[in-house]
Amino acid sequence: MKNHAIHKPAAHNLHVLPRVRFLPQCLPRSRLRSCQQPNQQNLKILQRPFLSPPAQRISVSDRYSAPWFLGGLRFFLPHPPSQCGYWHGTTTRRIPLAIPVASPTAAVLGEIGLPAPVRELAARTWDVIIVGAGHNGLACAAYLARNGQRVLVLESRNRVGGACTIEQPFPETHPAVRMSPCAYLAGLLHPKIVEELELPARGFHWTPAVNGLFVPMLDGSSIQLWDDEAACEEEVRRFAPRDVEGWRAMNDCLTRLRDALRPPGDGDRWIGDAPTPEEIDARLGHDDAARHLLYDWSMAEFVEHYVEDEGLQIAYLGQGVIGTNASPFDPGTASIRFHHASGRLGGMPGMWGYVKGGMGMVSFYLCDAAQEAGAVIAAGVPVAQILPGEGVLLEGGERIAAPIVVSNADPRVTLRLLGSAADAEWRMRVEGVPIEGCTVKLNVLLSELPNFTARPGANQPHHYGQINVPLTKSEWRSGFSAARRGELPTYLWGELYFQSVHDPSVVPAGMHTMSVFAQYVPYAFAHGTWDSRRDEVRRLALRSLSRFCSNMDTAIIDAQVLGPPDIEQKVGLTGGHIFQGECLPPYMWSRRLTPRTPMPGVYLCGACTHPGGSVIGINGRNAAMAVLREHGHVPHA
Ligand SMILES: Cc1cc2nc3c(=O)[nH]c(=O)nc-3n(C[C@H](O)[C@H](O)[C@H](O)COP(=O)(O)OP(=O)(O)OC[C@H]3O[C@@H](n4cnc5c(N)ncnc54)[C@H](O)[C@@H]3O)c2cc1C
Repeated sequence: MKNHAIHKPAAHNLHVLPRVRFLPQCLPRSRLRSCQQPNQQNLKILQRPFLSPPAQRISVSDRYSAPWFLGGLRFFLPHPPSQCGYWHGTTTRRIPLAIPVASPTAAVLGEIGLPAPVRELAARTWDVIIVGAGHNGLACAAYLARNGQRVLVLESRNRVGGACTIEQPFPETHPAVRMSPCAYLAGLLHPKIVEELELPARGFHWTPAVNGLFVPMLDGSSIQLWDDEAACEEEVRRFAPRDVEGWRAMNDCLTRLRDALRPPGDGDRWIGDAPTPEEIDARLGHDDAARHLLYDWSMAEFVEHYVEDEGLQIAYLGQGVIGTNASPFDPGTASIRFHHASGRLGGMPGMWGYVKGGMGMVSFYLCDAAQEAGAVIAAGVPVAQILPGEGVLLEGGERIAAPIVVSNADPRVTLRLLGSAADAEWRMRVEGVPIEGCTVKLNVLLSELPNFTARPGANQPHHYGQINVPLTKSEWRSGFSAARRGELPTYLWGELYFQSVHDPSVVPAGMHTMSVFAQYVPYAFAHGTWDSRRDEVRRLALRSLSRFCSNMDTAIIDAQVLGPPDIEQKVGLTGGHIFQGECLPPYMWSRRLTPRTPMPGVYLCGACTHPGGSVIGINGRNAAMAVLREHGHVPHA
């Protein structure tokens, strides 16, 4: 597929832009929408839901936009027509996308700076200070401000978004390349957040990675686990004919658990306080398989219970350990598979997909929403201390007063910020949650897409979905043990995504981005350091891919390698743990940290709280609702 750089806007969109351009940022969204006065064609498109379901058979490149600059603001405008299609076996028709976006946060790629001198901010009266502008801190700020609270968000980095942001990974050589350095794909982002904070009207656009999971095998075979059920069943029948029934039963188990705990609407138990074990029990009834999936099966047990073919089993194993410092043979890892399959983004159960412009756009829109509601957000302002009931002390020495402090920082950082003010029992609880990361992320710039020898070709259906480069069962075991000893495994498991295939706006013409999320690597090496061994890790990751691709050596232009200490240093996530602490059963549901803490006026709102890690946003909402309820407000969304 051809990429596009910045193009001239299509004529039918032009008249929309000047109107948006001069709108004051504080205008309510309802006014903003009515002021745009889109023409007939745009009106139709603006009223469309925020995704383009696969049933519409839309040409991928047409659904994306290149950034367009006008008077210092960035707008996203459609690419010109393209002939490319990705839906297997069907033709595509062109539907132009015309959602004019004027995200002030995206316009500066999240580097929002200070809204006023710190001394001036310190002199104002605040109801709530939020420490950290990760996506959850921003969601929390939006809800609190919408409920009339005077909210100040203090972010230590110059850029908002935490682990969900957008950067230029190759600023010297390829400044036009935009990548979300950590989180790269949306699937668990909560529909309530999308709807209540009006993300689609702000420009949020999500393309499901409809082609599912492609797994090439070492023997030259491969499987494409399509999201489309019928197509997938056909593929399973071809690959492992005796496992069709078992494969169906395995999916049924996931569906039953999702429907029991996370039905669509307000019955979803990710919303609000975590359910008690008794409540979960009542919801599961006599479904023992769902209970095993939630609490005790390892990922290997889960797949082995349902399917016999070893190839089919290993195709799924990685899904049980994403971001988790455990092997797929460890108890409880099947629940990680459930966690990641439990979303309903766009009304599509279990589906993941690409956010136009990059995953960090989610945080940028949340930042816009919070600011629009009246929250004040300051970046580049590290908090040195949380003073319960009083406010915060900044690293710069200033004190800012507020009766309530909500921490979006991970719980270990929060503990450090609290110092001796932390409750002893709470400290023990926080310290009991494992928080050592095992993931390495590679942000890669390519001159062409990987050519998988099992299904050769430069622009294949699998490039539009998710690709796993698998390990054999013995490689899974030995690789995990090696990393635990502080050594590098012989090969890494890796999950690959290509944002540029769906969204050419993120790279110059003729290039592609590839996100590689790989495991296992040690947080600390037995010999050497990440600085001395980062290049070796890069070679190992690419060697692990090259077992299945023919062109890795020649296709790579550049690669950024982020090991756990790099993630820790970059985003502040202790141990480089991607979820602010393990998401295995002993640390989930009623056992996860709550927004409330024993310290007066101190709350948590990050991924460390229920319902856990990933880009969800509901953690921030849950915290905001807890704050409001406990301080005598009747919260509204
Ligand atoms: C490599 C990687 C890949 C991932 N991939 C995905 C993915 O594809 N999809 C997905 O859904 N999830 C993914 N995740 C997980 C997801 O990104 C995180 O779980 C989520 O972003 C956490 O959001 P948060 O707002 O709770 O916290 P964070 O993003 O951790 O934000 C916390 C914020 O607090 C700030 N802060 C910390 N200390 C201070 C201080 N003292 N003063 C002021 N500010 C402070 C930090 O700078 C940060 O901005 C990934 C994570 C990583 C690391």
